Amino acid sequence: AIVISVPAAILSALSAAARGGVLFKGGGALETLAEVDIFAFDKTGTLTTGRAAVTRLVALDGDQAGFLSLLSGLEAHSEHHIAAAIHREALARDLQPVAVTDVNARPGIGIEGRDASGPVWAGNPYLAQAMGAPLDHPALQSLAEGADTVVYLGRGAQVLGAVTVADAPRGSSAPALAALRKGGVRRIVMMTGDNEKTAEVVAKELNIDQVLAGVLPKEKAAKVKELQSTGKTVAMAGDGVNDAPALAQANVGIAMESGTDIAIESADITLLKGDLNGILKAKKLSEATMSNIRQNLFFAFIYNLLGVPIAAGVLFPFIGILLSPMLASLAMTFSSISVISNALRLRNLKL
Ligand code: ADP
Ligand code: MG
Repeated sequence: AIVISVPAAILSALSAAARGGVLFKGGGALETLAEVDIFAFDKTGTLTTGRAAVTRLVALDGDQAGFLSLLSGLEAHSEHHIAAAIHREALARDLQPVAVTDVNARPGIGIEGRDASGPVWAGNPYLAQAMGAPLDHPALQSLAEGADTVVYLGRGAQVLGAVTVADAPRGSSAPALAALRKGGVRRIVMMTGDNEKTAEVVAKELNIDQVLAGVLPKEKAAKVKELQSTGKTVAMAGDGVNDAPALAQANVGIAMESGTDIAIESADITLLKGDLNGILKAKKLSEATMSNIRQNLFFAFIYNLLGVPIAAGVLFPFIGILLSPMLASLAMTFSSISVISNALRLRNLKL
């Protein structure tokens, strides 16, 4: 009965989780999640829907159609949510993407390639800076003042224009975060490759404690390590290729079902249907599982604690009782039954 105390509870909990739209890869996360001190979230595609839309467009030479055709031709080679938004905008305007070749993704900052006239690039201010392209044109500065993410398109050191892209928080984000906090989580962190301004707007809306913006993909795992360095247990939720190392580094990695395969592979938990309330369910289940395991161990030990001394004859000198082998094996069975039926209660836990 002692041997089955832990696995019985975990198996029951896993089946309750699956019913609640939360897939655990194994029992480990069930044991750790209850102790998490810090929850870290990727922004784009995790706290937000990841289904962005183009909100403004500035073509410095005034040719919006030509500008968007080139930008969408370049972004056609990217799987980034920004690329998808640009693609949808070009479709909506009936524009044909320009043929772009020799495409190179620049993770966390943008993308570059080559059209008929030479090298082109699209991305954030870091990429513009790397290309030596100044962003001081008044029309571009006005775009950068808003809260939306700005994507610049350029040719070498010359900026051709920019679009802004906006992405709204998931409906489940605010209630799920509020409930986590109510459930005793003391620190909620948002980590994003996006710029500070866009990040701050989302953070304010969701009441997030700490914002790490402009984090490059390769830095995300190091940031998780930093959060862990003070002995804290850290859970990280994300969806992108760039989140995968951070999900693996975290004590508990949580992926969105809508996310990339590599994120799901690196995570301990996958949330089905993009519902962040799944994190709450998982945490609740983890807490219930740990207390269930403690009860099981109690059941398992109490039979032994009473049975073993009686079998050994402690009562024999006083009242002449010994544990007959038949009763002993009956007690053994009862102990296992108690443990299993207690563990099975977890399957019906309301999540
Ligand atoms: P997040 O952490 O928010 O999921 P990423 O690390 O994927 O963000 O991207 C960070 C930033 O890099 C984006 O906000 C964008 O400015 C820029 N970027 C990345 N990929 C592209 C792309 N294909 N086109 C334009 N900009 C991009
Ligand atoms: Mg993301």
